Amino acid sequence: MGKVAVAFAAAAVLVSCSVAAVMVGRRIKSRAKWRAVVEILKEMEEACRTPVGRLRQVVDAMAVEMHAGLASEGGSKLKMLLTFVHHLPNGTEKGTYYALHLGGTYFRILRVHLGGERSYLDVQDVERHPIPSHLMNSTSEVLFNFLAFSMERFIEKEGKESNSQGVKRELAFTFSFPVKHSSISSGVLIKWTKGFEISEMVGKDVAECLQGALNRRGLDIHVAALVNDTVGALSLGYYHDPDTVVAVVFGTGSNACYLERTDAIIKSQGLLTTSGSMVVNMEWGNFWSSHLPRTSYDIDLDAESSNPNDMGFEKIIAGLYLGDIVRRVILRMSQVSDIFGPTSPMLSEPYVLRTNSVSAMHEDDTPELQEVARILKDLGVSEVPLKVRKLVVKICDVVTRRAGRLAAAGIAGILKKIGRDGSGGITSGRSRSEMRMQKRTVVAVEGGLYMNYTMFREYMEEALVEILGEEVSQYVVVKAMEDGSSIGSALLVASLQS
Ligand code: ADP
Ligand code: MG
Repeated sequence: MGKVAVAFAAAAVLVSCSVAAVMVGRRIKSRAKWRAVVEILKEMEEACRTPVGRLRQVVDAMAVEMHAGLASEGGSKLKMLLTFVHHLPNGTEKGTYYALHLGGTYFRILRVHLGGERSYLDVQDVERHPIPSHLMNSTSEVLFNFLAFSMERFIEKEGKESNSQGVKRELAFTFSFPVKHSSISSGVLIKWTKGFEISEMVGKDVAECLQGALNRRGLDIHVAALVNDTVGALSLGYYHDPDTVVAVVFGTGSNACYLERTDAIIKSQGLLTTSGSMVVNMEWGNFWSSHLPRTSYDIDLDAESSNPNDMGFEKIIAGLYLGDIVRRVILRMSQVSDIFGPTSPMLSEPYVLRTNSVSAMHEDDTPELQEVARILKDLGVSEVPLKVRKLVVKICDVVTRRAGRLAAAGIAGILKKIGRDGSGGITSGRSRSEMRMQKRTVVAVEGGLYMNYTMFREYMEEALVEILGEEVSQYVVVKAMEDGSSIGSALLVASLQS
């Protein structure tokens, strides 16, 4: 070989070596980036752990806070609000009633017709629309005028043959925000949640605002009750099954109510007669305990929300937030690694990833995870390999599993408070035989998250059995109530008339 050829061959070897070195270097770098992402996932998984021991601590904390909230005003983060609902509908109600429901994402209007027997419950014309987002930070006047206008349109559609023509219509206003009631049909807004921000509304009577707006439109409609959505769900549950004593909503937000003995509502002794019972609206979204597993993503989400340091439990279990927790994890990963390509600016937009999309990705059963790919593409992240799509599914799983399991702990906490968890409650003194006489207990559950996100529901139900044990679980029935809060509120108004 001539000198030139040797030099040429040497150069060729050098080039191929350096190409190989670059390739190996890239591979090492990409492996390091993948490792960084896996590290983030592991850290987050660890911070979200909910072993049954921890869930039991949450159960105890919930029961303790319930006691504290009932003992004195401001005694707990749980407001344990009076509802003035002493009796729930029992099936004998008759007539036609309406419900207008302002939720966190949707408003609904419906009419029920009751024939005096349980089996004769006819739910008619359910209308469900997203709440126009500009209303969430408008003024109370704009909001209530809109609701009154929607009600007017609903009535207009009824037509002349409607049997309620010419008769004053009785309406339940189902309102899914914390209210301090002074009677079943009046109460002032304590604060907004779930992203609503109409500050001049706080402290105003919510039923009065709606009644005023209806009157201004000349509608002959009487706001007969102001009903928290959970109380509506409890009413429908009880109507069908009198063993229903707890209701929980998992929708945009989350909350629970239950039937309490009036003599246990210590803070209102003197105000209430001591016999009988009253439904208590827990406002459990604001529950907090140091036992709740919290990540840096939760802390940031809270700090950047419209209500920081508020509604801590809601922010880890409810539909408005699960998507945003997932988004924050993906954003973090895309910042430390290029596995998602260049960081998409959309990933920095709060609430751009909705929980509906989280469930669609989590439950994607296509072999190549095409649904995950489609949703990521909508977020400006395209062409990610299968292993990255699998990683995203895993993130959804971790966030939703934590939510479902903590939701179960919350329910078990209520059962513990009322002595239906098989342990005899947190106050001692119950005899062993009493403990063994477990009563059948129905928990009415509703809300878009629970109704539509199978994995959330399954994690919740599985954890409830884990916490209560197989034996006690047989006595605890979780019943889904589609549109329960609206229908139940109308039933509640019906029960007030009889
Ligand atoms: P609202 O909270 O207005 O009363 P819903 O009870 O219907 O309304 O709950 C709506 C919320 O439920 C949505 O904002 C979303 O967070 C959640 N949700 C609805 N559908 C799904 C779904 N398919 N998967 C996961 N979450 C869902
Ligand atoms: Mg709701």
